[in-house]
Amino acid sequence: MDKEYTKMDAGLLHLTNKKVLLKLIKQKGQISRSELTRITRLTPPSIARIVGELAEKDQLVEYVGVGNSNGGRPPVMVKFKNEGNYIIGIDLGATYIRGCLVDLNAKFISEIQVPTEINNGFEYIIEKVIQVIGKLESRVEDGEKIWGVGIGVAGLVNNKTGIIESSPDFGWSNINLRKELENRLNLPFFYDNSTRLMALGELKLGARQDLKNFAVINVGHGIASGLVVDGKLVKGEKGFAGEFGHISVDTNSPIRCKCGMNGCLEALASGHRISALAKLEVKNNNSDQLKQLSNGNPDLITAEMVVKAAKMGDATSIRIYNEITEYLCKGIGTISNLLNPEVIYIGGGISLSGKFFFDLIEQKKSNYLLPQNSNVQIVPSTFGEQATTIGAVSLVLKELLNLKLTTK
Ligand SMILES: [Zn+2]
Repeated sequence: MDKEYTKMDAGLLHLTNKKVLLKLIKQKGQISRSELTRITRLTPPSIARIVGELAEKDQLVEYVGVGNSNGGRPPVMVKFKNEGNYIIGIDLGATYIRGCLVDLNAKFISEIQVPTEINNGFEYIIEKVIQVIGKLESRVEDGEKIWGVGIGVAGLVNNKTGIIESSPDFGWSNINLRKELENRLNLPFFYDNSTRLMALGELKLGARQDLKNFAVINVGHGIASGLVVDGKLVKGEKGFAGEFGHISVDTNSPIRCKCGMNGCLEALASGHRISALAKLEVKNNNSDQLKQLSNGNPDLITAEMVVKAAKMGDATSIRIYNEITEYLCKGIGTISNLLNPEVIYIGGGISLSGKFFFDLIEQKKSNYLLPQNSNVQIVPSTFGEQATTIGAVSLVLKELLNLKLTTK
């Protein structure tokens, strides 16, 4: 350890130690300075100086008096300062723009949801995002601080250039979101693909932060995934790893995907596909329940209506769900046999269908899994509808804990 450090200059060494201490204090919640000394093997004066800096300059930790002593001097206790420090998370989706203001423990302080109204075009949508951020900013009191804004966007975000190269949901290509937002936001901001952020959110803030190998599958209007292997989010060369919706699950399918290929998982098993199949059935008079739920207008049918009808026992809706879960299990089999994850989280609108949906997945999954991989657990994502906003929060939190937002 010492050998490695001899190559660093004093400033870099200080920064490295500071990051280690900040992460340790965050992880423990509350800890004594002497315990920090014992764990890190830094000297007590170094610990006192760095903790002092984190408390006074950065306002990220605070002293909480003295703890119990075992006869010697009572230990000085410090804690991570969640309260009064906030992050804004935004989920920029094709249907809704969701925003949340959370403390550094990801506790919700405030949230907003507005329809995206995608047909009004790019400028309108960006303006709406700015307004949501502005409203959330206004809910913070004097003396409190928002450290940054994270944004999850449905599209392929090139991690090297920041360009959204393609977003079929929005009909965008080659959008420079950084350029669009930098003159209009007075906070640091970061963005990435919404599903990759769902996986980051599970990794950093989810129910099982001990997991080293897992996948998040986002089944909503489209289908994508975020993959975590050996404790790291897989990004690939440009950040496009995980485009699970575009693996072919039926090469003979006449159904054309938005990407131009035939038989993609997204074309055959997304929320869009569920409603498309149901519309066709209603037009052919094959489901009284769906007809009723949509007030006789097939164009109003949504995937939520189909699951509702299926739960009521509608044979047509059950058949549709049987078909799409079969395809999803083909995809799940591919991910499981390729990466051997311990857990597969399913997020996105379709995952909100509940037990009915997850039971179908359980019934069918073994058809596509090696027996040795069949113990993979398939569960709903930790944060439900907020999976992307919390993922976006975790993107900012990562920067904060690496002291990228403090020491400039
Ligand atoms: Zn495709």
